[in-house]
Amino acid sequence: MRGKTGFRKGAGFFTLMTALFLALFPFSRAEAAGRLQDTGDKLVIVIDPGHGGDNLGTTENGHEEKSMTMVTALAMYEELSLYDGVEVYLTRTSDVDLSRKERVEFAASVDADFLFSIHYNASENHELYGAEVWTSAFAPCNGIGYQFGCELLGAFREKGLFIRGVKTRLGDSGKDYYGILLYSSEKKMPAVIIEHCHVDEARDEGFCDSEEELKEFGRMDATAAARYFGLKSSVLGVDYSDHELAESSISAPVPVTVQDSTAPDVCQIELLETDYDTGRLALSVTAADYDSTLLYYSFSLDGGKTFSPREAWPGSDALTGAYSDTFTLNLTVPALTCPTVILRAYNGYDLYTESNSWTSPETYRDPEELLAASGKAEMGDGTENGQNAVSSEGKDSAYERTEDFAGGRGDGAEEQERPVSFLTFLAICLIAALTLLVIFLVSQAIAAGSRKRAARQRRKESGRSRNQPR
Ligand SMILES: [Zn+2]
Repeated sequence: MRGKTGFRKGAGFFTLMTALFLALFPFSRAEAAGRLQDTGDKLVIVIDPGHGGDNLGTTENGHEEKSMTMVTALAMYEELSLYDGVEVYLTRTSDVDLSRKERVEFAASVDADFLFSIHYNASENHELYGAEVWTSAFAPCNGIGYQFGCELLGAFREKGLFIRGVKTRLGDSGKDYYGILLYSSEKKMPAVIIEHCHVDEARDEGFCDSEEELKEFGRMDATAAARYFGLKSSVLGVDYSDHELAESSISAPVPVTVQDSTAPDVCQIELLETDYDTGRLALSVTAADYDSTLLYYSFSLDGGKTFSPREAWPGSDALTGAYSDTFTLNLTVPALTCPTVILRAYNGYDLYTESNSWTSPETYRDPEELLAASGKAEMGDGTENGQNAVSSEGKDSAYERTEDFAGGRGDGAEEQERPVSFLTFLAICLIAALTLLVIFLVSQAIAAGSRKRAARQRRKESGRSRNQPR
């Protein structure tokens, strides 16, 4: 599987350029506030484009991770090189595979202060979305990785990405699971794996579907590193020396990074209210995980046979561990169904707990039938019919929410085409309502005008009396 090494030759050019740059521009380096790591007087950063050669990485959705990581890593390299007093290296500059150990050994050979391993993600069932940073489970590298991870993921969140947290994972031996982190932490060399986004999920695809997007990620990685190290750049005109970092620990793992191997502890749903005519259903959701953040939820209307795509858990903040332990889920139940609702709560490690189920005691009615019936009976009542028409929009969508907690995407429910006669009917209702509104407004205006005139008259009279000499 692994190709021959060749990274030293490839990296040689960059090394030479950096050395030249440093010789020409001697520097003084700044310190970010609260940074736990001591980097001495020379700062060396190594960037590792993940995969390479026969090791393609993920190939979902027509992507090829090994090429994506190279674009991002080169952009990160170029951007970081614009900062004063930093030596930057790449573990590979050509399409070769290196073992994890080789990547770490290269970083150690140049005395790296930090190793950044660049990756893109995909999930088995194409359900996951968002960015995450993996760090060693062990001090001191854990707390250092957490400080950097907060910088990077905070910026990713502002860009609109969902944040899955700064995480750790242990192998069977009880050591770090990921080789890059294992070998680095053995050398007390801080390292992180950056999983920028999921290439196989609709919500993330727009963040990685062009070369410019991949470069943008690289520049963001560089800026996060610059903030983390408190760097200055005379070229860019920025100075991060006073930049404040997240609180972290050098002596013990940061609690929010600790691997959670148990599913959420509590997950319950309870009926708040429902309307069998419109299909509106409001449920109260209560859930808790005592070890990690709740990231997503999904729901089933068919008793657990199928589930909706995952939605962001309200208030989820994987960097602090915060999430809302209760929220109202508003759904639109498809007409002529009698749903059994179940909700799944997913934690920071993608383990889930299913709620109790709620089965509707009645079948939801068909708003179009109701509309037709009420339309014949009371033609002219615009408001009632209008409401029914709105809620019937979700009729053909199995999983329709009426409220978007995550503020995220609007895909999924296909717009249903309405028959022309129905549209015409709606238009007539609308025109009738508008006409009534206009008549109402005009009459109000006339009434207000005459009130004003009367008031003016009164003022005139009282003014006359005030002006009487005392
Ligand atoms: Zn990868």
